[in-house]
Amino acid sequence: MILDDRVLDVRGATVRYAPGRPAVDGADLRLTCGRVTALLGPSGSGKSSLLRAIAGLEKLDGGEIRFENRIWSGPGRHLAPEQRRCGVVFQDYALFPHLSALDNTAFGLRGGQRAERRARALARLEAMELGARAHAFPHQLSGGEQQRVALARALAPDPDVMLLDEPFSGLDRRLRGDLRETTARALRDSDAATLLVTHDAEEALALADTIALMSQGRIIQTGAPDAVYLRPASLTAARLLGEVEAFEARVTGAAASTPLGEAPASGFEEGARVCVLARPEAIRIRRADAEGALAQIAARRPGSGQQRLVCTLEDGRAVSVRTALTAPHRPGDAVRLSLDPDNIHVIPAEAG
Ligand code: ADP
Ligand code: MG
Repeated sequence: MILDDRVLDVRGATVRYAPGRPAVDGADLRLTCGRVTALLGPSGSGKSSLLRAIAGLEKLDGGEIRFENRIWSGPGRHLAPEQRRCGVVFQDYALFPHLSALDNTAFGLRGGQRAERRARALARLEAMELGARAHAFPHQLSGGEQQRVALARALAPDPDVMLLDEPFSGLDRRLRGDLRETTARALRDSDAATLLVTHDAEEALALADTIALMSQGRIIQTGAPDAVYLRPASLTAARLLGEVEAFEARVTGAAASTPLGEAPASGFEEGARVCVLARPEAIRIRRADAEGALAQIAARRPGSGQQRLVCTLEDGRAVSVRTALTAPHRPGDAVRLSLDPDNIHVIPAEAG
């Protein structure tokens, strides 16, 4: 339920460290309270610079950041970080080594009696399933526990905006999975507008209500996880979210012809150049006596529950297909490939 639209609005934000292309180049972003937005992009695309600008750790060289009706950054205006009611969590936890988990969590709390502040801090730790570790010092805690304390500390003062910069990157895979769930719950329970910076598409898809894609300092697409995964606005956006096959084609009779068959392309002009995008799970694989484009399996890469098959078409082009791990296909087998028309997406060729 949306009661009102408490939002953090970033418009045309520009951060420049040196002459040439700015690190953040006119970025637009809107964060809504009670929701998690993932900022996904490759290393060097400007994610941390944008997060730091929101936190007040970098000044803007153009554009504006405002929360509700208050300008945080803008022409001639820059609120100090401590005036922004932002909670920030970095990859390296940054806990105070000489303070217990509880004292670390209570550190940023103001007002009321000390006992009251400690009770609030303890409640935050309990929400992160760390109540039993409240009196441990950072060196007695595992990496995952330290990161949970860092989250509890950032959430304790009930910030308006929560900023997390690759908070799980330092942890091993299994721990990351567990911590993601706890973190997602804590962030949704809080009323903060959350920005989660990550270069991991799987993490963004699993955790976020909204995904914003960043490339070369710009936000190139924003939307619900399913929408950006299945209907990317460009080839760059498509690749940020995972593997994708892209087939260039020209539209004839509201369809685009690809080596794997026809793709419906209504809404494009006759003769328009388009790019047909297919995720590996949108490519069907069948036995050689079925219909479809003939291909040979060149390699098989097993994963957890799924496998990726690299297939070579007759013209030598390699195409990646994802199937159940139990599927019978093996390298060397001849197979037929075709497109699942419900799961492909056609974009103008220029957008690539
Ligand atoms: P990301 O977090 O997506 O990896 P960053 O925001 O850290 O990207 O960096 C974006 C660009 O800005 C990079 O080219 C990086 O080298 C540059 N950059 C980042 N911080 C600074 C800084 N303090 N001084 C100069 N250049 C910087
Ligand atoms: Mg970064």
